[in-house]
Amino acid sequence: MGRRKRKPDRFIEPEVRAKVKTDAEYICFYCGKETAEDSTVDHYIPFSRGGSNDEDNLVCACRECNELKDDMMPEEFRLFLYNMERYEDMAYGQLQKIYSRSGS
Ligand SMILES: [Zn+2]
Repeated sequence: MGRRKRKPDRFIEPEVRAKVKTDAEYICFYCGKETAEDSTVDHYIPFSRGGSNDEDNLVCACRECNELKDDMMPEEFRLFLYNMERYEDMAYGQLQKIYSRSGS
């Protein structure tokens, strides 16, 4: 992945958005649901907390998860979902990804 200059705001180029969604096959990164036309692109590490607009910080998310997550860090969001008892709805593999990514 080449490094390109990015605008210093949370703008994500449309082609990057499209790629993140198609790479994820429109599956929500957080809850594992198919998002179809309701898909959004979420900053995995929130932009407001130092996350970048680089593709490796972007995940496909359903609108609901994106709105819930807001500017929470991934680990905070996981606990939040757990507390909401949404935990069991989440695909186990997705959770593993959250763990593995938050350690890097
Ligand atoms: Zn979701």
